[in-house]
Amino acid sequence: MYVDLTMEIRDGAPVFPGYPRPTIRSWSTIERHGYYSNLLLMPEHVATHVDSPAHFVEGAPTIDAIPPERFFVRAVAIDFSDRPPMSEIGIRDFEERLPKGVEVGPGWAVLFRTGYDAYAGTDMWMRYPYIGEELAEHLAGTGIWSIGTDAPSPDHDPFNVHRILLPRGILIYESLTNLSRVVGRTFRLVALPIKIGGGSGAPVRAVAELE
Ligand SMILES: [Zn+2]
Repeated sequence: MYVDLTMEIRDGAPVFPGYPRPTIRSWSTIERHGYYSNLLLMPEHVATHVDSPAHFVEGAPTIDAIPPERFFVRAVAIDFSDRPPMSEIGIRDFEERLPKGVEVGPGWAVLFRTGYDAYAGTDMWMRYPYIGEELAEHLAGTGIWSIGTDAPSPDHDPFNVHRILLPRGILIYESLTNLSRVVGRTFRLVALPIKIGGGSGAPVRAVAELE
């Protein structure tokens, strides 16, 4: 079974504050031109997307330089949707909720469900629970390849989780959705970014393949 974990890129879709919202315009129609197509203007960090190390680290790999195997991982999704706004998710919270028998490491992604994808575009959206620095260090120490969240970011300004993970080459997926359908389980995650030359990140199509 496949579960689509991707938010739609729509005209005017909400983005992290400071970025312009995507603009989508009709370029051609079957009626007038004989073929249908649209024109897109949008930030790299739109809808469901991945941050490459270059997003925070000068000279680090851009999205086109990440080996494709990094986008095919074993994943575990953990539910933190009961957390209060602006609360920290710590090492102990993570260990208590990690499904029994699951040990994450190289080749793995850890996905955090906050439920804040439901608030996209509202004031509540920016009050998402965040990953603590200790937990970020702990996850980095396991050698995992990526983390993901259905919130717009795993952390708040000054983005210390980004600063811990990206220098070690750990990718960060943001604004995932539908994690309620995969929490408490392990599965294969395929989340491929479009290949933007020199990109700091890129929109992805994220799909969970469940056994
Ligand atoms: Zn981003």
